[in-house]
Amino acid sequence: MSELGDGTRCVHAGLPEPAPGQPFLPGPVFAAPYHLDPWQGPEGAPNGYGRPDNPTRRLLEAAVGELEGGDCRVFASGQAAITGLLLTVLRPGDTVLLPADGYFPVRAFATDTLEAVGVRVLFVPTAGPYPSLDGVRLVLVETPANPGLDVVDVAALADRARAAGALLAVDNTTATPLGQRPLELGADVVVASGTKALTGHSDLLLGYVASRSTELIEAVTKWRTTTGAIPGAFDAWLAHRSLATMDLRLGRQSANAEAVAALLAGRPDVTGLRWPGRPEDPAYPVASTQMRRMPGVLSFDLGDADRVARFVDAARLVVAATSFGGLHTTADRRAQWGDDTSAGFVRLSCGVEDTADLVADIAAALDAAGPTG
Ligand SMILES: *Cc1c(COP(=O)(O)O)cnc(C)c1O
Repeated sequence: MSELGDGTRCVHAGLPEPAPGQPFLPGPVFAAPYHLDPWQGPEGAPNGYGRPDNPTRRLLEAAVGELEGGDCRVFASGQAAITGLLLTVLRPGDTVLLPADGYFPVRAFATDTLEAVGVRVLFVPTAGPYPSLDGVRLVLVETPANPGLDVVDVAALADRARAAGALLAVDNTTATPLGQRPLELGADVVVASGTKALTGHSDLLLGYVASRSTELIEAVTKWRTTTGAIPGAFDAWLAHRSLATMDLRLGRQSANAEAVAALLAGRPDVTGLRWPGRPEDPAYPVASTQMRRMPGVLSFDLGDADRVARFVDAARLVVAATSFGGLHTTADRRAQWGDDTSAGFVRLSCGVEDTADLVADIAAALDAAGPTG
């Protein structure tokens, strides 16, 4: 259905053909074992045991796969999907290139676990410059990167990776498949957290891997089945239900981010504003051509931890929470998690509140927070 608009695609993604008397989205199937045909055994039906087989999960995978333009396997969380891909592909002696400014737990996993099993780990800033990819097995980029929001030209990097015989993986969490389709830009595989804007209700954890390579999908499926990193049936169903409104949610989040960015850009008491949709942003030239829409997430600096706390405390519509992409506007001071950002660095995730209300609230909260110190 790729010729249809985003809203249409989201509403219909992964749904079975209409059947009288049946729901639009079938309810979650809860099962550990399923009945087997006594003569044919597992060959006789699509479902034998819950770890490899679940029809609710398969419908969600069909939906996300349609949106990404590849085959999809969902995982219990974004981390389960990303570490699953890394451990499926990488072997001792291999070299992997990771974003120096990307999702912190992925970097921690690389230095704690991958290096310990003999994988060589190189960190490169998302915005580059990228070294020679000769001898590199896998390049994983995050674009826009979380939390700094730099971007990388996926098509250009895909050309270089292909020429060097490296696989290119793109973490599509911040953009979502409506924001960009890395597989169409030439990436070999997409990984993402579905916990964020993809599902958007701050009520579940989910991850996925998507690819057009049958070989890669088979290897990832085998990894998931043997490690058991599957989401539960209810979370899979809830995620699928939430996908239907993604176009609407992202539309409002992005419009809110644009208005908040305009407000913050005009305030001398806010520094380091980043939002890839602003023409003045260093990420804009690549983001505006590669991305189909801009994320609802922006980042900036309020100078110190105390001023961030005063700002969030004064705001009525901005709550302190990590994660992003949800219906409610949230602010996260990343340094409190041991991230390597400065003490006053804030990642702000715009929710779906009315734009005028949000802008007025943030302006008033900044006024109330006063100057640094
Ligand atoms: C949140 C996030 C992850 C991890 O996802 P979980 O669902 O929390 O495990 C990975 N990559 C990025 C860019 C993220 O923002």
